[in-house]
Amino acid sequence: MVFTVATRTLQYVPALSKLTIEAHKKDVPQLMHLVILSGDGIGPEISAATCEVLELLNRRLSLGLTFESHEIGLARLKSEKTTFPPAVAEACRRADGIVLGPVSHATYPSRAEGGINVSGELRITLDLYANIRPSRSREGLPHWGRTPMDLIIVRENTEGFYADRNMYWGVGEFMPTPDMALAVRKITAASSRRIAQAGFELAKTRRKKVTAVHKANVMKVTDALFLREVRSVAKHFPDIAYEEQLVDSMAALLVRDAARFDVVVTTNMFGDILSDEAAELSGSLGLAGSINAGDTHCMAQAQHGSAPDIAGQDKANPASLILSAGMLLDWLSRKHADTRFAEAAKLIDESLDALLKDESRRTADLGGKLGTKAFTKALSDEIAKRAR
Ligand code: NAD
Repeated sequence: MVFTVATRTLQYVPALSKLTIEAHKKDVPQLMHLVILSGDGIGPEISAATCEVLELLNRRLSLGLTFESHEIGLARLKSEKTTFPPAVAEACRRADGIVLGPVSHATYPSRAEGGINVSGELRITLDLYANIRPSRSREGLPHWGRTPMDLIIVRENTEGFYADRNMYWGVGEFMPTPDMALAVRKITAASSRRIAQAGFELAKTRRKKVTAVHKANVMKVTDALFLREVRSVAKHFPDIAYEEQLVDSMAALLVRDAARFDVVVTTNMFGDILSDEAAELSGSLGLAGSINAGDTHCMAQAQHGSAPDIAGQDKANPASLILSAGMLLDWLSRKHADTRFAEAAKLIDESLDALLKDESRRTADLGGKLGTKAFTKALSDEIAKRAR
């Protein structure tokens, strides 16, 4: 198995068959409008770092990126009594891409009191059904799993156990009595099919293996439906090796032998949990980039949360949001058939790899001494050196 990344092609576009590819007209320079929502906790620090890197790439590669920033979350709640004003939602809908910093939604008040989970809201309203979460170990950087890894978790993003967003009306959790609480898990054939399609399309560009993760031995109805659809999609990809794994053994196998996995397709909550595990095993949650992608919109979002324990202390590793922004650029590259964006994404990936090889240029979560700002400067210098 090859773990070098220098010649690797990035490929994070789900369901290429459905994605509207807009032909790039070479004579007309395209402007690509990005909305930046910095979020809560460490969000403002890592979003500022991400903007710094994007602006540098914009200048060096003439990407034609334009930026529009909006405050959301707890800061906005104070001034406007909502974490996510409708005008900001509309700006996201109009944008070519969104960069969302982490949000402290566990501490938000109820929706009726203005506490809208921006992340969940955008995933549902823009139908960002594929949450693409890569985890790979890097040469020279310790990984905590027993084997190196290079895998992508393709997580269904619009249904499952997510009670705040899995219903058309009402919420998927309720209490018939003060001492009884119930949760509803929603699995549909259509959503299972499209996430499977996204996973198989991705596997075609990689090591050609898909693992479906489920708990059909217990969730005999919902996960049986999920598997029925994944198996049916698998039949259209005879060149892709297909296997299934129970979620509990998958958690152990990620520690023991993550090298055997390539693309992992799973439902919403299993994907959420396993991807944090995989990211930490690959080195750190601070390296966990991800995009939420649909057929028309894409949002870059770090896998981790708002880390309130280290907020405002210049301790956060901004790499996951920066990598996520790189994945968004790669998505834009394919959507608009414009290789400049893919080149920019590759520059981020390769510069980060080079930086992380050197112990003196790592952040605290990776055992290093650099703060957020110093790390961003070191990464920018590395990108600038390579973009000459
Ligand atoms: P968390 O991911 O914020 O933090 C878990 C641990 O990892 C903490 O010790 C934190 O300091 C560390 N960590 C996370 N990101 C880091 C980074 N970039 N650099 C260095 N260390 C990092 O999880 P949590 O503490 O359980 O959740 C905090 C808040 O974030 C909650 O309100 C939760 O609901 C929210 N959350 C948001 C998202 C999102 O916006 N996508 C995802 C998960 C959790």
